[in-house]
Amino acid sequence: MSKNYDLVTIGGGIVGLAIADAWLTTNPRDSVLVIEKESSIAFHASGRNSGVLHAGFYYAPDSLKAKLTRDGNQKLREFCHERNIPILEAGKVVVTKSEKEIPALEKLYSQGIANGCTLELIDENQLREIEPLARTHGKALWSPLTAVSSPIGVTQALADRVIEKGGEIRLSTSVTLAGPGWVTINGSEKVLAGHIVNTAGVFADRVAHWFGVGKEYKMMPFKGLYLYGNWEKGRMKRHVYPVPDARNPFLGVHTTVTVDGTVKLGPTAIPAFWREEYSDFSSFDLGEMSEILSLFPKFFFSKHHNVPGLIKSEFPKYIKRYLVNQVREMVPSVNVKDFQTKGRPGIRAQLLHVPTSKLEMDFVVRSGEKSTHVLNAVSPAWTSSLAVGEYVVKNIHDGGFH
Ligand SMILES: Cc1cc2nc3c(=O)[nH]c(=O)nc-3n(C[C@H](O)[C@H](O)[C@H](O)COP(=O)(O)OP(=O)(O)OC[C@H]3O[C@@H](n4cnc5c(N)ncnc54)[C@H](O)[C@@H]3O)c2cc1C
Repeated sequence: MSKNYDLVTIGGGIVGLAIADAWLTTNPRDSVLVIEKESSIAFHASGRNSGVLHAGFYYAPDSLKAKLTRDGNQKLREFCHERNIPILEAGKVVVTKSEKEIPALEKLYSQGIANGCTLELIDENQLREIEPLARTHGKALWSPLTAVSSPIGVTQALADRVIEKGGEIRLSTSVTLAGPGWVTINGSEKVLAGHIVNTAGVFADRVAHWFGVGKEYKMMPFKGLYLYGNWEKGRMKRHVYPVPDARNPFLGVHTTVTVDGTVKLGPTAIPAFWREEYSDFSSFDLGEMSEILSLFPKFFFSKHHNVPGLIKSEFPKYIKRYLVNQVREMVPSVNVKDFQTKGRPGIRAQLLHVPTSKLEMDFVVRSGEKSTHVLNAVSPAWTSSLAVGEYVVKNIHDGGFH
């Protein structure tokens, strides 16, 4: 039996939910269905991230990330207040590991100002006042609007709002094939849709290929590991981040304060060998592993990234001592003895442009027949989600992405 919906999203992470939410705001009478293969909301990236509301200074001024993160930060903050979800206005400092990093820090500052972010370049004395546990060399960056909330709490609350607006969410339901105007679920049931939005996270490339969209892209997953500290809550007040390597789309291992004041280290960006390679072999897929490994010989020599450097620095982070030592350069009081508890790992759904071996740095959204494909919803798409939702829906109504 088939059923008709005006809009179907494939994937019930924060991006799929935000698009459903925005659609129901512009078209309140429409029927909207969110299809999620897991039995709970936020099982993947949306519930396994740092929960940081980024301010938007890491991204090129003409990028989608710059615009949608600055706006998304504000919208998500308002959403947390509207729904009484705890949010900690921790703020963030970006510190240097040597004076050589000061030009890159200043560049980050100028970029942030161009992006309309509230930012300040501070000296060592000011840093000591803002976060006494952090160290820098000469200068640091202060971002007061970088906050933190609960990744699962926020995503669940958005799911609740979608249902309140009349949307339907089907959990434990897998889309096994789809094409323009239809999806097959759990291998047999057919659902018809006026428009389909692919927000399948780490599977977004595979879903897009069913529609003949984004054939030049493949997903290259990276694993983010965390370590929790046993420090008393509130001992560390701010998030402390390094100056990132601009050649890679990752921010480098950092310390964040969770919304309840616990300190955690991470996440790493270790290449993963299959899409949901968390900590065991339950989702092992030989086909996926072969596909991902086949991308590596060319990717290793990519002129766009320092891949040998990335591999050399990331794989040792499986060793706790090595991971902790990365952070000690920024927060000297961090030590291995206090940081022993592993957090839930997350997988970054990082898109690779196969012909050029380039990891896409910006969000990538493509139109297909009666469909839209969100192909690179990498960090900070959790922060940006509500702005991404409005942006995607507006573009669908205006005729699609070109
Ligand atoms: C380690 C880590 C740390 C991060 N830290 C931050 C941060 O601090 N701040 C920030 O803003 N962002 C952060 N991010 C990024 C953020 O988590 C993601 O950008 C965001 O969660 C992406 O949401 P999504 O809905 O696209 O993906 P997901 O949450 O992965 O949702 C996709 C969903 O699609 C479902 N699905 C897939 N295929 C199918 C199918 N065939 N049928 C039905 N359902 C399907 C999956 O089960 C999944 O639930 C981090 C990410 C990671 C991995």
